[in-house]
This record gives sequence, structure tokens and C-alpha cells, in this order.
Amino acid sequence: MKIGFGWDSHEFKSGIPLKIGGIEIPHPKGLGGHSDGDVLLHAITDALLGAIAAPDIGTLFSPSDARWKGADSAVFLAEALRRVEAAGYRIANLDSTLILAAPKIGPHTTALREHISGLMNVPPDCVGIKAKTPEGLRIDNAAIAQVVVLLEEITQPPRLRKPKPKKSPR
Ligand SMILES: [Zn+2]
Repeated sequence: MKIGFGWDSHEFKSGIPLKIGGIEIPHPKGLGGHSDGDVLLHAITDALLGAIAAPDIGTLFSPSDARWKGADSAVFLAEALRRVEAAGYRIANLDSTLILAAPKIGPHTTALREHISGLMNVPPDCVGIKAKTPEGLRIDNAAIAQVVVLLEEITQPPRLRKPKPKKSPR
């Protein structure tokens, strides 16, 4: 098994749609960034890449590269998933925490879980979504996402298989 951790933050800006976890959430401000600013998909992507010791999201998809201006972050996630599979691993589960003052994420957790499970091709009960407000941190104009992901080897033998009996010397 392998474990990966991802962290990301983006600043709220007026006049752009708010995209978190691949879905649009009604709010007067969106998250700025070179791509669509999807803080959650970026943290998931980095967790997957980290688990297989691949280059991180900023290295693979440089913010100075015009190709990724306004890009759908699902593209980054798809590349991380491709690399995970090529390395011989699949997702066991992931867990995430969003930290933001507003909007409330609670009403959207079911939709987020279902959408992300679809993007990652895992059951919804393998996708943890939690949200907290940044109490005492004075970061009301930013959103932070933290993600851990557990990968298991695709060729892993059944867990309950008995060990092979030792060959007796002739
Ligand atoms: Zn980001």
C-alpha cells in the first residue's frame, strides 16, 4: 500500500464562478488561480501524485504554461489517475478536509462525494468530504483543502492466502 497527502489554497476573487471538487457552488466569489482554481481537485491530484512519488501538480502543469489558463482541473486529476494506474496501483479510499469561512459546504457534500467518486471511478463511500471554518486563523478570503489518499497494489494477492509451506531439503 501507499499513502499520499495533498494540500492547496486559493484566494477568493469577485466575478468568477466558485468551483470546488468539480462542481459549481453558488457564491458571490470564486477561487482565483491560473486554472479554474479548484482547490479540492488540486489537493486530490497532489495526494495521488505524492503517493507514487511523481512530480507534483505545479511541475506537471506549470502555472506559466498558457495551455492551463482557465483549464478544467479534472484534466489534472485524470493525468494523476493515469500515472497511479501505470504504477500498478488503485485507490483504496481518500479523505479530505476543506477549510473556508463561506459558503457552507455541508449542503453540497453528497453531490461532491458523488461527483468525485465518478471522476475517480471509486464508490462514493470511498470519498470522505469534511468542511471546517478557519476559527481564529484570520483567513476569511481563502479556501484550503487537505487530502489523504490510500493506494493498494493492483496485483496484491488475496489477504487470507496461507503462506506457502517451506520446501523440505532433499
Ligand atoms: Zn491549486
